[in-house]
Amino acid sequence: MLDWLIVGGGVHGTFLSAALARAGLVSADRLAILDSYDSPGRLWHTRTRNVGMQFLRSPSSHNMDVDYRSLRRYAAQHGYSRSRHFIEPYARPALQLFNAHLASVVERTHLQERWIRGTARLIRTAPGGYAVESDAGVVHARRVVLAPGQPPPAIPRWAVSAGQTVVQHLLSPRFTLPLTGLGGRTAIVGCGMSAWQFALVLARSPEAPTQPVLIARHEPTTSWFDSHPCYLGPACMRDFLQAPIEVRRSMLSQARLPGTITPEVREQGMEAVASGRVELMHNRIAALEAAGSESESAPPDANRALSSYPQGRSASHVSRAGHSPLPPHCLRSGDRDERATLSEDGAGTESTTTAQSRDAGPLTLRCADGTEIRADQVILATGFSDEPPAAELVARTAAELNAPRDRGGHPILETSLEWKPGLYAAGRLAELELGPSAGTIVGAHKAFRRIAHSVPAMPVQYQKSIW
Ligand SMILES: Cc1cc2nc3c(=O)[nH]c(=O)nc-3n(C[C@H](O)[C@H](O)[C@H](O)COP(=O)(O)OP(=O)(O)OC[C@H]3O[C@@H](n4cnc5c(N)ncnc54)[C@H](O)[C@@H]3O)c2cc1C
Repeated sequence: MLDWLIVGGGVHGTFLSAALARAGLVSADRLAILDSYDSPGRLWHTRTRNVGMQFLRSPSSHNMDVDYRSLRRYAAQHGYSRSRHFIEPYARPALQLFNAHLASVVERTHLQERWIRGTARLIRTAPGGYAVESDAGVVHARRVVLAPGQPPPAIPRWAVSAGQTVVQHLLSPRFTLPLTGLGGRTAIVGCGMSAWQFALVLARSPEAPTQPVLIARHEPTTSWFDSHPCYLGPACMRDFLQAPIEVRRSMLSQARLPGTITPEVREQGMEAVASGRVELMHNRIAALEAAGSESESAPPDANRALSSYPQGRSASHVSRAGHSPLPPHCLRSGDRDERATLSEDGAGTESTTTAQSRDAGPLTLRCADGTEIRADQVILATGFSDEPPAAELVARTAAELNAPRDRGGHPILETSLEWKPGLYAAGRLAELELGPSAGTIVGAHKAFRRIAHSVPAMPVQYQKSIW
């Protein structure tokens, strides 16, 4: 029997495995990582590459080692330059540097040797711990950490019935860059970092033949952070942890700053718009039609996911039958009231920016105000859904172990992040305990501190605050 099994070897599972080993809380041969992919951080690499991310949004102190200075030290030792591989403020590292440091942590802790490739399906109790059933067999461990990453990508209702060849979600693991072969005009739907960074990739690519159109619900809104930074410490976390679970859920959505972009991405984006390399439209899409077919707008009762994608946003975001959801990621931080209003009546206050029918292309995106946008392919950059990550595993395990969940299906955890004794959750799955930064890199640091506190014989240097 293993001492620890980490389910999910993304940024969080990799961080936690390395941190447990580095803290001496487990010997390398008593720990394993179970993951659907073949190597640590695979989805991180896929998504950041597809989006075209150049620099991280988070500071260099939020890195893959428990030591906050580790990445900066690594950069100095390996010839990375302060001016080219970091961006201010907060010395945010270049993706290339972050990934090299990640690889060094994996190598140093021999995590690849502790890898089991398989997908966990159910967790049961077993003598002395847990039995994790997976398509790679049953793995027994005294302690198990669930770190299955992000929820599935959010698919707007109007896109649900479209085929995957013409509509793709940028954050889907199956996303394939459409720069060659398909050609034609690309419509990008979204208004956050992913949408803008991807628009810049297309704008700069000699292989992308035509100017992409970015369809955003509002002007680019800037923020250095993707959630309110006061939740990184006790200033906001104290209140958060004192609030009842159902209140924490609404605090989470208040604290997040979806649909915001960093100032340097805004500057580059505006430059691309001004020079005609990206067309920017402010509008809300109501339906998608393909040439020669009936309307492909999703029927009101649409319950099938976009091709093989998981289902998008939950019904609570859908304002009224037949209307597209109003993705919270496209609302400014100060737009909470607008969001409530919009959710009630399903209508937007968007301004019309362009003429009625735009360019050629087999797809027609019909906007709420009647504007039509033609495109050859549509790329959704509409963020992640509100479902719990690994929803099926979580639901089956909750039923098996009689483990508590909130109304949205998220696990309700102890302060130690234990769902049941010795069964932990991390990342977005632990957001009701860790707050809005749970799913980000610093969330992995927070999770480690909480988990380590619950383990006897934790070295004294890790017995810092739980924030
Ligand atoms: C484009 C992009 C840029 C980002 N930039 C930043 C940034 O600059 N700074 C920051 O702090 N955060 C950033 N984030 C947020 C966050 O840090 C990343 O999403 C990060 O990858 C989350 O790590 P994770 O381990 O929770 O999830 P993932 O990296 O998605 O990994 C989850 C892993 O769990 C596995 N898994 C899931 N279910 C099962 C199962 N049942 N059985 C076995 N394995 C399973 C998956 O195969 C996957 O390997 C970014 C996110 C995105 C998408």
